[in-house]
Amino acid sequence: MAAARAHQLDLAGLRLAAGEGRRLELEVEIEPLELGGERYAAEPASVPVRVEVSRMLGGGYALRLSFQASLAGPCMRCLKEAAPLVGVEAREVDRPGEGEELESPYVREELLDLAAWAHDAFVLTAPVKVLCREDCAGLCPICAADLNEAGPEHAHERVPDSRWAKLQELELE
Ligand SMILES: [Zn+2]
Ligand SMILES: [Zn+2]
Repeated sequence: MAAARAHQLDLAGLRLAAGEGRRLELEVEIEPLELGGERYAAEPASVPVRVEVSRMLGGGYALRLSFQASLAGPCMRCLKEAAPLVGVEAREVDRPGEGEELESPYVREELLDLAAWAHDAFVLTAPVKVLCREDCAGLCPICAADLNEAGPEHAHERVPDSRWAKLQELELE
């Protein structure tokens, strides 16, 4: 059976008693995101997620979200396609009336905004540098050749350019 695609999850509709919990397998669409000025997309487009909902004694909910998705977009070193796998584990507590830190920004009137939560958790877990592979050699800073293909012997002879040197002298004055 295919998991239901959910944008929002009606927590009240689960009719949990205090202390009771439920584990749900759902699918959620994660909006494309921007990292370092580039656009990245979650793959697959519809991500299977696991949501664990516990109704707390005294009211409110404890929530857990976990999923894995690839972060597809340009490698930040060589600009080729990259798609590192990101494993997301996130928790939220929503206990209205007990102070701001115990009110989840994703829960309103017992309605969980699953798409927004999954999106934000994905962004927070995303690597700072998106790479096609961990040891990507990147591009040559002089000719922009892909150093993964050109190999370590790729190099340029340094040709001193007198005009360039003159220009630098001028700028220093
Ligand atoms: Zn790369
Ligand atoms: Zn080069």
